[in-house]
Amino acid sequence: MQSTLVLDQGYQPHRIVSWQRAVLMLFDGKVEVVEEYSDDVRSVTISIKMPSVVRLLRAVRGKRGVKFSRMNVAIRDGFKCQYCARKLPLGQLTYDHVVPRASGGKTSWENIVMACFPCNGRKGHKSPSQIGMKLLKAPVRPAWLPVVAFKADPSLSVPETWLNWVYWHGKLEQDE
Ligand SMILES: [Zn+2]
Repeated sequence: MQSTLVLDQGYQPHRIVSWQRAVLMLFDGKVEVVEEYSDDVRSVTISIKMPSVVRLLRAVRGKRGVKFSRMNVAIRDGFKCQYCARKLPLGQLTYDHVVPRASGGKTSWENIVMACFPCNGRKGHKSPSQIGMKLLKAPVRPAWLPVVAFKADPSLSVPETWLNWVYWHGKLEQDE
């Protein structure tokens, strides 16, 4: 299914929606089309190109928190095991409770990092300091996530028409 990249008013990646949702937003006058796919969307009365990138016409109100999910934790951690720093596809990474569940560690942004299976196994039910393992960085709840993360996972692909709009964010990732 084709997705549409939604930019905020300032042309920064905001979120990703289905193209159907993007068409509804377009008809509601909420967005303008920035890039199109070559496919047509047809109905009885209209025929338009399927929107690939759209821009919100109004400022985004309030900031929604980033949802806690496997994908979003992986994006935050740059698809890297937070112990050995190996960059891996999502399928080869697992949740690691920094403070083990057995010691009351929660499944939350502040206590979950991505780890490769060997590191996760080595750590077992201990805390990192107990066995001399060090985290790349302390886990925090992110205020937002860069869209470039979709490029970081080789199993996910970004439509060509998005590249102009997510390109600058590549720098952010390298700065880390
Ligand atoms: Zn590892």
